[in-house]
Amino acid sequence: MEHQQPSAHDDAPAKITKILQVSGRAIPIEPLDAISVTGTDSSNGSELPATADTSSPPEALSAFVQAIEAARYPSTRLPSWWLAAAMKRFDRLCAYCGQDAGSAPDVDAVIPVMAGGPQRPDAAVLACKACRQGRRRRDLLLWKPNASPKLKAMRAALALDSWNHLSRDPADMKTSAKANDVINARWQQPRFHCHGALLPMGGFIGWRDAAQVPSAMQLRLVFEHNAWRLRQSINNTHRRNNTPAVFWVPTRQGALDALWDVIEHNGLVRRADLGDLASPVNEAQPDFSSDWAMPFPTVADLVRGRWRQNR
Ligand SMILES: [Zn+2]
Repeated sequence: MEHQQPSAHDDAPAKITKILQVSGRAIPIEPLDAISVTGTDSSNGSELPATADTSSPPEALSAFVQAIEAARYPSTRLPSWWLAAAMKRFDRLCAYCGQDAGSAPDVDAVIPVMAGGPQRPDAAVLACKACRQGRRRRDLLLWKPNASPKLKAMRAALALDSWNHLSRDPADMKTSAKANDVINARWQQPRFHCHGALLPMGGFIGWRDAAQVPSAMQLRLVFEHNAWRLRQSINNTHRRNNTPAVFWVPTRQGALDALWDVIEHNGLVRRADLGDLASPVNEAQPDFSSDWAMPFPTVADLVRGRWRQNR
């Protein structure tokens, strides 16, 4: 039994933690016990509440896990000529620790390319090997909450050109100034990645590495959105080290609400391709409720109106 404490995780975005605290709602501390819905082990099926249709179609769960494991992120390799420019710009000093960048200096995107950060020379800084390895692909604020004001300002400026999500409230997106406000507010906290898929009877929200699930988000999904954490039977011993975390929300509307909640709490949600299993977008009723999985328009896109034309 694994017991989760609210806001106990260091990586939990502070904003979510704060909301949980100010909501004043008693968060029941219960084990987030995983239920097995796949494989030959059906003995756990009896643990499902009879009143809730919590079981996702097993074939859809398999497809979702495969999709998030196969998801490819944009290459994180930055053009090599940027290095020479950065060496000059930063006078051979690591932008993160201020020390000499050492024998293996390289450029590091302030907003990781996989987080939709812009691929421009001025979006990257010079970093020593220790800092690059320490950061990995984490959001700057998750890795270094006390980063220098200059670095934080750089991240904030680059956020406007990074992939983002719309707001589900069209009024928020009426003008570029309002869109700017939404994006600015979102990026004041660390952002995290996850994957989502909508089916006619519900939806999945998942992380390819369970260790990356912000615990406060996990609590919101379970207690605010009645999501079930699913466990896939692990039959393949050759799988990667990372164990995916998958949540199932048992109604379509509930799943949509949960997806938007994740986005509004700083998640960058990527749509997982489930092929024929996923429900088609209802073209007859285009509205913002189906825009959760849009390809992350930037504020610049919003201003140019590209986000509407691409639908
Ligand atoms: Zn360094």
